[in-house]
Amino acid sequence: QAPVHAPHVVLLTSPGAGHVLPVAEFATRLAADHGFTATIVTYTNLSSPAHNSPLASLPPRVSVAALPEVPLDDLPADAHILTRIFAVVNRTLPHLRDLLRSLLGSPSGSGVAAFLTDMLCPAALAVARELGVPRYVFFTSSLTSLLSLLYTPELARNTTGDCRYLPDPVVLPGCVPLHGADLVEPVQNRSDPVYPLMVDLGHNYLLADGFIVNTFDAMEHDTLVAFKELSDRGVYPPVYAVGPFIRSVSAGGGAGNKHSCLRWLDDQPDGSVLYVSFGSGGTLSTEQTAELAAGLEASEQKFLWVVHFPSDKDRSAGYFGTSADQGNDDQLSYLPEGFVERTSGTGLAVPLWAPQVEILNHPAVGGFLSHCGWNSTLESAAAGVPMVAWPLFAEQRVNAVLVSSERLGLALWERPSSVDNDGVVVPRGEVAELARELMVGKKGALARNKAGQVRDGAQMALAPGGPQRRALAAVISKWNARP
Ligand code: UDP
Repeated sequence: QAPVHAPHVVLLTSPGAGHVLPVAEFATRLAADHGFTATIVTYTNLSSPAHNSPLASLPPRVSVAALPEVPLDDLPADAHILTRIFAVVNRTLPHLRDLLRSLLGSPSGSGVAAFLTDMLCPAALAVARELGVPRYVFFTSSLTSLLSLLYTPELARNTTGDCRYLPDPVVLPGCVPLHGADLVEPVQNRSDPVYPLMVDLGHNYLLADGFIVNTFDAMEHDTLVAFKELSDRGVYPPVYAVGPFIRSVSAGGGAGNKHSCLRWLDDQPDGSVLYVSFGSGGTLSTEQTAELAAGLEASEQKFLWVVHFPSDKDRSAGYFGTSADQGNDDQLSYLPEGFVERTSGTGLAVPLWAPQVEILNHPAVGGFLSHCGWNSTLESAAAGVPMVAWPLFAEQRVNAVLVSSERLGLALWERPSSVDNDGVVVPRGEVAELARELMVGKKGALARNKAGQVRDGAQMALAPGGPQRRALAAVISKWNARP
């Protein structure tokens, strides 16, 4: 039971599993370990029951409030997903204001100790500021991508033309150098209608009192040091590195309902299986799906592949179900003829969703071919599993550059030869080569070694009294210090 005046935290999450999952996890920990009560605020627009499933099993101290649906029918049918998300964020601000006001005036007198918004909703910080509530961004990607987004307004001012063609890499404080074509996807292209919205995002972050970032020292040491220096000089609000915040293994499905793919892994030799997944919504083209299948088959490596419907239009189509062939709900039917039968001794294709944290921590898994969503990246690093980076959209290339850099070296990445990599298909031979190199090659062995070091760093970050607890304690003390 929460004490009568338990401090209350409000956490706003944008739609999508990669946002809802860490927010739910964070709220749960604030309640369980730090005595808070919490409200997770979600959007009705763009939400899917599958992505919201972590909200079904929250502890009693954490409740959920959904902001009402707002009309989006004025947006073009093919509007970018970020255009739609930012429109929802802006159009629901009056509802958010009402909600915060009602919580502030709640009879329990607990008020709102802090308002946290996820990385896509910093426009909401203005409402918290207006109501005098301490406000933070709960940033569920790398600190490197946060810095690159903070830099977007300056980049827009100081350059002309499309960033993807910048002659020199962008060197941000403490960060691995980023080519223009590695920047967060809509920032690369000035004529993209999302471009000005990304510039606004960069400005809006500065409304925060601090950034709570899901990262840790072994992942982004130099960037953390540089960011702290910038904060000390008042350039940016302070950063609290509270990572790696990932679901615990047992949370994904207990022994009673063990997923069939985990039983399959139980029968495979240690370190022999390449896990292949593009996150909750990453989508390949029809041709790329066929080439990936043929490449995995030719690699003669064992694999466990979470297969999504292909889409020839949108690499993030899986998030909101726009990739599905309306008449066909069988993802595996898009694999090449006879693929499942031919690979039945070596591989397993799982439709749509698999218990990733359990998979990555299974002894049979020796590598991860990943889209480099940040949660996947942290989960892989914390399990000591090396990766092949296969970024698709959003900030995934920033993460791919980081994990494949000399500095970290826990991933292999074939940087596309052209900056306009839309529509480029990685051929089967290259897929097979990458899979073999990661699983049994020299570069793979080096990456495995590095991944082991980062896993040790993750464990240090999570140790009792370690950096994660200290960072959390530091930010929480600010909330508790409020009159
Ligand atoms: N996930 C999972 N099973 C799947 C696909 C994704 O459990 O089949 C989880 C994964 O463990 C991670 C999250 O969903 O926690 C995906 O977040 P990430 O940031 O990696 O990518 P996004 O889905 O946001 O692109």
